[in-house]
Amino acid sequence: MKAQPKASHYINGRHVEDEQGPALPVTYPATGETIAMLHAATSNTVELAVEAARAAQPAWARLKPVERGRILRRAADLLRERNAELARLETLDTGKAIQETLVADAASAADALEYFGGAVAAFGGDYTDLGGPFAYTRREPLGVCVGIGAWNYPIQVAGWKSAPALAMGNAMVFKPSENTPLSALALAEIYTEAGLPDGIFNVVQGFGDVGAALASHEAVAKVSMTGSVPTGRKVLSLAGSLMKHATMELGGKSPLIVFDDADLENAVGGAMLGNFYSTGQVCSNGTRVFVQKGLHDRFVERLVERTKTIRIGDPLDPETQMGPLVSKAQHDKVLGYIAIGRDEGATLRHGGGVPSLQGFEGGCFVEPTIFTDVTDSMRIAREEIFGPVMTVLSFDDEDEVVTRANDTEFGLAAGVFTRDLPRAHRVVAELQAGTCWINAYNLTPVEVPFGGYKQSGIGRENALEALRHYSQVKSVYVETGDVASPY
Ligand code: NDP
Repeated sequence: MKAQPKASHYINGRHVEDEQGPALPVTYPATGETIAMLHAATSNTVELAVEAARAAQPAWARLKPVERGRILRRAADLLRERNAELARLETLDTGKAIQETLVADAASAADALEYFGGAVAAFGGDYTDLGGPFAYTRREPLGVCVGIGAWNYPIQVAGWKSAPALAMGNAMVFKPSENTPLSALALAEIYTEAGLPDGIFNVVQGFGDVGAALASHEAVAKVSMTGSVPTGRKVLSLAGSLMKHATMELGGKSPLIVFDDADLENAVGGAMLGNFYSTGQVCSNGTRVFVQKGLHDRFVERLVERTKTIRIGDPLDPETQMGPLVSKAQHDKVLGYIAIGRDEGATLRHGGGVPSLQGFEGGCFVEPTIFTDVTDSMRIAREEIFGPVMTVLSFDDEDEVVTRANDTEFGLAAGVFTRDLPRAHRVVAELQAGTCWINAYNLTPVEVPFGGYKQSGIGRENALEALRHYSQVKSVYVETGDVASPY
């Protein structure tokens, strides 16, 4: 299996190789085989990319928004036309099941390009009547923006960051996660084919040091990162020390609250979606499932029954529902947390092991895992595991569960399952989370802002909020009479 791109980087509308950079092997997580060999960027390559973006951005910003939008919408069409091949590439790079990558990855990036390509023409400043004089505001681009991606949704993250940035008239240098460098290159090629001017979207590969070099580059106006809280803190302080704008899309340990009156099958389905999709590697996952005592036992029984039917195996088989984790490091980390859960005294109700799959012995597979009898203080209920590990906790009443749900440093997302709608809205109003779902979980349409409270991040992606975060406001005061000067 090979997925070798033409070169490691994409700068100024061209593939660029730089063999001086450290080797960056790309592995297929289902087998462990090497599918591509790339090089991380050297400082020269980073300079080349930032300079290309800096030089190209002013002319791009001068285009009418509708013209910029037209190019983005053409790129969205190309993404959709090539969805099948992009899904295969994403599956090889991440190990995620093809039945997911066919619907959730390039398609989600296309949604963002289409949405922002249309929305930007209707996005503008305000007019304020000052009783004769007046003022208006202009929404202006920031300049060169840096995107730093995570490995769970590589092309989606590249699309979610670049679409609002480019629509608004910025240029971008994007650094994918070292684990999943391939699909951002495909997106860059598609942008060029759609008519994007050279230098407006550039991709450089690398490890954390390349991300840090970009985040601290003096020509960069904004940094948008998706990843873990510890890395977010580092990147935010680099950006902050130079007064750059920043959007941080970070991790979580989100609560999913199931009341006694919930529809059992929907609640179980929501909890499974919110813990096992993408092999549990989703930042907004509802990994603390609080179930009210009256429903708890029936909930766990149905949860285990349905989890037993999950088909785990060859990610390229359209019947497979769960692939491996992204890397050996993530595999070891998740198995480590499962051992911690056992040691802490939680009850392992399902999974917890490595499945034996013929032909995939070198893969990073872990069984979907359910712990019950979990308490709030256990590490498996406090720390982001980022794998298919669900913790089930029980509760008595509404006030108690809201307090416990909020007792975390994170605040990315939350979910409530109940048939009592006044209660659903009351609870959601109390939850400290940037995105809440009522009788649903993990749906993130581009029309709705997405981002975290507390340590889960700052800024928002998606919706018009993202255009605000990729622009700055200029206020213009206009005098219509004489200058009232005391001099
Ligand atoms: P990180 O958060 O460490 O990395 C995210 C991105 O930031 C990557 O592109 C990474 O590059 C880059 N980066 C790392 N260090 C720096 C730095 N000092 N300055 C600038 N950029 C940097 O995620 P990891 O891939 O290392 O995963 C670690 C853990 O984070 C996982 O086990 C998981 O628990 C969690 N995670 C959470 C995500 C979420 O959305 N909540 C997403 C991904 C991971 P590189 O990959 O090359 O190191």
